[in-house]
Amino acid sequence: MQPKKTPIAGGPSMTSAHMPSGVHRRARVHTILEHPHPALTRPSVDCDPLDPEIVELTNTLITTMRGMPRCVGLSAVQVGMNVRLFCIDVTGHNKARSCAGLVALANPRILEASGNVVMREGCASIPDFLGDVARAETVVVAGLVPGSAREMVIYADAIEARCMLHEIDHLDGVLFVDRVLDPAAELHTRRRYS
Ligand SMILES: [Zn+2]
Repeated sequence: MQPKKTPIAGGPSMTSAHMPSGVHRRARVHTILEHPHPALTRPSVDCDPLDPEIVELTNTLITTMRGMPRCVGLSAVQVGMNVRLFCIDVTGHNKARSCAGLVALANPRILEASGNVVMREGCASIPDFLGDVARAETVVVAGLVPGSAREMVIYADAIEARCMLHEIDHLDGVLFVDRVLDPAAELHTRRRYS
C-alpha cells in the first residue's frame, strides 16, 4: 500500500505530564554527534535505568534537547552513548495531537504500531536536511523510567508517535535519511533556526 501524504491537523493538547524521577537540575548541554559519525549507525545496548550514570545521562539528554530550538526528541547515541535511552517532548508542537509531556524511557519496546503516514522529518544529527518519511501514525511504546525503573506505557499518535519511532530508530543505528522515500528528490536544505 502506498503511504498517503496526509497533513496532520489539530493543535497541541496536554493530557498528562510525566517528569522522570531522579531528574536533577545540574546537567550540562552536550555536543551532538553528526552524521557520518560511526556511533550513529551502531546499535545501542539495553541499560540499567537505576544506574546513576544513566540517570545523569537522562538529565544531560533533557538539558541538551531543551537547549535546541524546535528539538522534540533526542537519543543517547546522539550524545555519544550507545545505550537504549531517549527523551521526547512535543509540548506546544503545532502538529501534536497526543502529548505526554516530557518523557524519558530506557529500553523502549514498540508494543503496537498502526497506520502509515508521510511527514517531513529532520534530525539534530543531520542538521542541514529534511526529508519525507513514512511511519506508523499511532504507536504504543513501553519502557522504563530512569531513576525509578517504573514501566511506562505511552499511547501516542501524530508527531509524538513519529518522534518515538525516530528515536527508537536511533537506538537501532538507523537514521531518518535511511528511510527517506526518494533521497535524490526528497532531501531539502533546512532553514537554520539559530
Ligand atoms: Zn534524530
